[in-house]
Amino acid sequence: MKTISVLGSTGSIGTQALDIARLHNIKIKALAAKGNVSLLTEQAKEFSADYVCIYDNDKYKELKENFKGTGVKVLCGMEGLCEIAVLDGVDIMLNSVVGTVGLKPTLAAIEKGVDIALANKETLVTGGKLVIDKANDKGVKILPVDSEHSAIFQCLQGNEMNEINKIILTASGGPFFGKKKRELENVSVEQALNHPNWSMGNKITIDSATLMNKGLEFIEAMWLFDLKPEQIEIVVHRESVIHSAVEYKDGSVIAQMGVPDMRLPIQYALLYPKRIYCKEKALSLTDYGTLSFSKPDYETFDCLRACIKAITIGGSMPAVVNGANEQAVELFLDNRISFLKIGELVMSALERIKPTKITCLDDVLQADKASREFVLSRI
Ligand code: MN
Repeated sequence: MKTISVLGSTGSIGTQALDIARLHNIKIKALAAKGNVSLLTEQAKEFSADYVCIYDNDKYKELKENFKGTGVKVLCGMEGLCEIAVLDGVDIMLNSVVGTVGLKPTLAAIEKGVDIALANKETLVTGGKLVIDKANDKGVKILPVDSEHSAIFQCLQGNEMNEINKIILTASGGPFFGKKKRELENVSVEQALNHPNWSMGNKITIDSATLMNKGLEFIEAMWLFDLKPEQIEIVVHRESVIHSAVEYKDGSVIAQMGVPDMRLPIQYALLYPKRIYCKEKALSLTDYGTLSFSKPDYETFDCLRACIKAITIGGSMPAVVNGANEQAVELFLDNRISFLKIGELVMSALERIKPTKITCLDDVLQADKASREFVLSRI
């Protein structure tokens, strides 16, 4: 069985990954979380992890206290995440942290030659070229965890990348599907957090409501599968049964289906290429009866338009729109800006900040910082 480390173990993906580890006796070498000391402690004890890391430095003492006299190595901050990323004897690092924080440890793990199960889409959105070039250089696998990208990856098995015409990236449309801007003026945080199909963390749920999530996934797909923007068609599919599809040069379209549950894509990444029992509920197509498909509304959902424009410009622009969005979502969740303001801020960052070249991690972090500062200066 494989040995893995998990960055972001107390979040939605992290806890489901540990369910899978429990089910299939996957060994856990190290666990890292943002700030949930009690759950992290519980997890590390259950799985006998050798290393634990808490990202929030001020929680370090508390965590250290919990492991006194146990021999477990306790780490903190970005340094701790990067130390975990390069441990010996780890087959796969699952990166399920939220935001740009995930980029540096991913680069460190790739440098060390550790395969990555990637749930943190911001890693590829902000540092796509750096990550993919380094992974190719080191012969490291990037195994997608995001359900759409897992679907595409599954549809590619046994086929050649150069035989792809395009991919069909499905989108649930989020809680505000069919609404126009004037109907979204007074959306509350609670309404935006109420996703119809998927149960996820707060940041990604807001991103799903603004369709930023689909924009990030568009960029993520380009890097993962070496595609041009015109090779990606976004299709709104409300039922989230078809997780995405690939159209080949002969016109054949292969799709991957399943119930909307993250356990299957997580397990596929961790146990790739094996297909064994997964706790996921069986799909019953007759229970659904019909499946619907439509075009996305680029007019209403500024963030989706902004992401596609950003990757078309290239350079630092994907990091700029991502940084602006991370900051804006934080402000929205704190009730400091309105729902529509998220898209407005992302759009104005795209229009006002000049693109720069990305040649190293620092270039990414600078673009990210500049964009967050821009957003804060506009409210
Ligand atoms: Mn997704």
